[in-house]
Amino acid sequence: MKEETVKEVYPGIFQLKIPIPNSRLTHTLAYLLTGSKEHILIDTGIYSEQGIEAFKDQINQIGILAKSIKTILITHNHPDHYGLAPSVKKMTSGLVAMHEVDWDQAPWRNMGNNKKKGDSDPLEFMKKWYQLHGVPEAELKGPFFPGMDSDSKNRKGSRKSTEARWDPSSLPKPDLLLKGTETFDVGRFSVKTIWTPGHTPGHICFYEESAKVIFTGDHILPKITPNVSVRNSKRSDPLADYIDSVNKLKNLDVDWVFPAHEYEFADLEKRLDDLLQHHESRVQEIVDAVQEEPYSAYQVASNVGWNVGDWKDMDKFLRRSATGETLSHLEYLKNKKRLSSVKDSDGIVRWFY
Ligand SMILES: [Zn+2]
Ligand SMILES: [Zn+2]
Repeated sequence: MKEETVKEVYPGIFQLKIPIPNSRLTHTLAYLLTGSKEHILIDTGIYSEQGIEAFKDQINQIGILAKSIKTILITHNHPDHYGLAPSVKKMTSGLVAMHEVDWDQAPWRNMGNNKKKGDSDPLEFMKKWYQLHGVPEAELKGPFFPGMDSDSKNRKGSRKSTEARWDPSSLPKPDLLLKGTETFDVGRFSVKTIWTPGHTPGHICFYEESAKVIFTGDHILPKITPNVSVRNSKRSDPLADYIDSVNKLKNLDVDWVFPAHEYEFADLEKRLDDLLQHHESRVQEIVDAVQEEPYSAYQVASNVGWNVGDWKDMDKFLRRSATGETLSHLEYLKNKKRLSSVKDSDGIVRWFY
């Protein structure tokens, strides 16, 4: 494996590249804010043996002791941000912090070995929910999330150590559950928590005012439009949340944006405007798609354009994620009273103008 070189993106702030094996995303970008004796880490990456090696190697390059990392801030509950946290916690002396809503609503809670007796099976529940929105039976077979390893029988031997994998039962409760009002101080940095629901219901960004930098997790990425999905969570209108959260970052004094994927960039205001514009045209495209006849969310998704490629080339994970994304726009339009939905006699929800 090629070793990554740590980059000092601002005096005292280092960008670590933690690999995501076999993924189009390639890396999670974690950030280390250094003080004189103690340090703060923002995000950890996905669990893989390469990830652990990359973390150790890059901490060595920076020249600090892993044990001097006292706080591990997690932007959101996705495995490519939180998956490596238990391993990083062992190597450091850090307390892990996540927004309380993201812990409460993590899609992997109560799965695998965490499943309590008598709980309804969350995977079965999700499958039923996708069927309701028109996802065909054949696309609901096999592993439900890429790389998910919830079946302990499969854990031995069948998986290569180079593969990213995550086992829901290995993700413990964070040490600190945040409300989005906290500030974390280290050295000359004072990191302010900003709650930005949308991509996940408890997503948080971290703002450092004196350095004029913001750590945006998956909320704001330079090129990729973050997935904003309805996934049978308790919040029914994540797109409205997301748009509010984009607006929340307007008028902040920011010179550099440090996202969790792709690369750092400068013009936050322009990116915020582009994202708002993107969702506005998306909303219109979806209104147009249901003009002729009622369609399920899955059918609407198959009829609109996706920047990851043609629908026919998309695998079941991408199609499901596109369906969830489409649904967030449909729910948004329904709340704005621009579309209606009905559950047909075949048990599928269809949307119409
Ligand atoms: Zn994410
Ligand atoms: Zn991510």
